[in-house]
Amino acid sequence: MLWSGAQQPYSKIRLPQLTSSEWQAPESTADVEIPATLIYEIAEGDSLSGIFSYLDISQAQMYQVLEADYAVLALDTLRPGNRLGFWLDEADNKLMALELAFNPAHKVRFTRVEDGFEVEEIRLEGQWRAESITGEVHGSFSKVASEVGLSANDVATIANLFKDKFNFRRDLRAGDKFGVVRQSQFVEDEFTGNREVLAVSFSRGDKHVEAFRHTDGQFYDGEGGSLQNAFLSRPFNGNYRISDNFNPRRLHPVTGRVKPHNGTDWALPSGTPLLAAGDGVVTRVENHPYAGRYVVIDHGSRYRTRYLHMSKVQVRKGQRVTRGQRIGLSGATGRVTGAHLHYEFHINGRPVNALTAKIPKATAVDKSERQQFYASVHDYRKLMGVEGE
Ligand SMILES: [Zn+2]
Repeated sequence: MLWSGAQQPYSKIRLPQLTSSEWQAPESTADVEIPATLIYEIAEGDSLSGIFSYLDISQAQMYQVLEADYAVLALDTLRPGNRLGFWLDEADNKLMALELAFNPAHKVRFTRVEDGFEVEEIRLEGQWRAESITGEVHGSFSKVASEVGLSANDVATIANLFKDKFNFRRDLRAGDKFGVVRQSQFVEDEFTGNREVLAVSFSRGDKHVEAFRHTDGQFYDGEGGSLQNAFLSRPFNGNYRISDNFNPRRLHPVTGRVKPHNGTDWALPSGTPLLAAGDGVVTRVENHPYAGRYVVIDHGSRYRTRYLHMSKVQVRKGQRVTRGQRIGLSGATGRVTGAHLHYEFHINGRPVNALTAKIPKATAVDKSERQQFYASVHDYRKLMGVEGE
């Protein structure tokens, strides 16, 4: 679906009268203030190449965009309702910039530079608002949860937190009480679609099973013991050479422009088994012209891993995996000079260095932070109506 502010047809909404000679790649693409030539809203069944040909933009330019997309892999998951903004040269319909808006807080912008496109991911912190949701179990937890307004995602997060302590089907009884504190993100009063669980409790009389999120983003029980498993330090067995380090500010050797490398490369020979770095759910199995066959695993709400250039994928989208489980084989698919694994670790949607970042280990809240942690546990219990010490 194509639209503009005034709901005019495509032919009438070529706003900026840009020509290639006037176009200057801005210092930071965040400075682009010129409104898009046109905005395309993704509908069910749309593909990027279909949209490009519909708008009469060459496939060669689409491949230039996809080359830049290698660093962020934003264009494989177009969802109905997402918006694509196109900045086009008036004279020859040359693509000058492309922006994908996932929601008001998360955009990815591709900006033309001489020999291709530069990519920038834009995230707004917005405003997080907390709410507490309480209820009583009758029938299945997921059914009651949806009645009180918890999403399937919230239920999956909660199930994952308690999976070692607690079996929803077996251990919950009618009459058990539960409470959840959840926060939702808003940008200028518009809900972005992002939600996070902060605290959960299940109570039977004076017995409680609880989880609380600490300032480090990890979940702990009421005494400060960790509820999360550690991650593998490398998602494969054996020792292989690192062939390229994580470097989000890497400069292209020829053009001198920033060409982020958002992962760590290991020189794995084709066919080496790849392992899930932690417990989680497979959220993507895709084939990208530059990233090749790749898998994305979500590990709860904050952590995500990506495995690129695989020769074979042995999991499917939606599948639950456990730490160390084989997900496929390494390879040389996509645009590569040789077989290797490109591995990314994301915290809160941002790529971090998998070798040096603070990645969860199964421990307890640090002694120096205990008092602060207990104080927030006290507040969360109050919000969830949990009687306790
Ligand atoms: Zn790489």
